[in-house]
Amino acid sequence: MGTNPNSLESLVVQADHFIDPRTGGVVPPLQPSTTFARDSNYELIGGLRYSRYGNPTCIQAESLLAKLEGGAEARVFGSGLAACASLLETLKTGDRIVAPQVMYHGLQDWMRRLAKERGINLAFFDQSDPAALAAAVAPGATLVWIESPVNPTWDVIDIAAAADAAHRAGAILCVDSTVAPPVTTRPLELGADIVFHSASKYLNGHGDVLAGVLVTRVADARWKEIGLVRGLMGGVLGAFEAWLLIRGLRTLFLRFERASDNALRIARHFECHPGVDSVLYPGLESHPGHTIAKRQMTNGFGGMLSLCVRGGEAEAQKAASSLKLFLAAASLGGVESLVEHRASVEGPHSVVPKNLLRFSIGIERVEDLIADLEQALAKLG
Ligand SMILES: *Cc1c(COP(=O)(O)O)cnc(C)c1O
Repeated sequence: MGTNPNSLESLVVQADHFIDPRTGGVVPPLQPSTTFARDSNYELIGGLRYSRYGNPTCIQAESLLAKLEGGAEARVFGSGLAACASLLETLKTGDRIVAPQVMYHGLQDWMRRLAKERGINLAFFDQSDPAALAAAVAPGATLVWIESPVNPTWDVIDIAAAADAAHRAGAILCVDSTVAPPVTTRPLELGADIVFHSASKYLNGHGDVLAGVLVTRVADARWKEIGLVRGLMGGVLGAFEAWLLIRGLRTLFLRFERASDNALRIARHFECHPGVDSVLYPGLESHPGHTIAKRQMTNGFGGMLSLCVRGGEAEAQKAASSLKLFLAAASLGGVESLVEHRASVEGPHSVVPKNLLRFSIGIERVEDLIADLEQALAKLG
């Protein structure tokens, strides 16, 4: 249909060159029906029966996401964590998960709960040490979970090396690539078995949809079980949210590229600033993960960066509350720039430095963002 298979960007902009065969409409339609009729032979007309098992709008989103990640199939869920929970539900007593010490804290809580309640073994590795993962993946591991770049230090984990280590031990590798969407990183091409996104972040990109997605390299028995679990637990994405997600996806490349450009400009501007101890951003040569990042983030280092403010917690809090353009709010990957004091959000067990401010850089004018940060740091005197 005229789609250049080499250009993911054109594919996603046109929602896979969509044209409604009945009307000629160029926007994928929203089909909200929860139930689907049978014909006079009592056969399902479109193969669908009830929307907890999938609906046409979700299927359109899944088709687009599978192509974007270069996977066999994709499944969308009502949130990122619902997607993770469905994957983890396929683990059995005695199975072993290997995961980073620092990772999305909600999912780590869920893994700890599974370990406690279900007799699943759980081993954590130091994600800042490139040799630690291979050492932690002892034979007998079932699932190696990684996240890259890692929130909020943006340590970069080598996906190809992780896939190697996982496969040698007989495990599968699942990559949380929420912070590095397929604009810049395609984990399945680097050897991962499943890629996960909180689609609430960059994929939708407008802070108005809660969604999760899993994309698999092969539709194997585990993948089928994930589908079964989604249908039985009811974790499927709603049709309207799937429709919004498709709309958001159409501008994914533009948004991500602009956010990456803005973040790199900000990182460079504040790298040697007197009010800042360090800037953590994988796009900076000074970042310990820069070499791997250059290899596996091929089209921008993303919009996530952290500033360690000179001083301690009080100075970081003061700088954050002096910002006028950045919004003090959780989440990431939207068009608007956000700031968060992670240590406060994560609570007493947090290992995040107290002077660290996490920024989700949006697509505003970068001069405005830099000026806002300058005036906030100037308040520290
Ligand atoms: C937000 C987020 C999640 C959880 O996704 P939800 O959509 O909030 O359920 C998981 N991993 C990362 C890296 C995230 O940023």
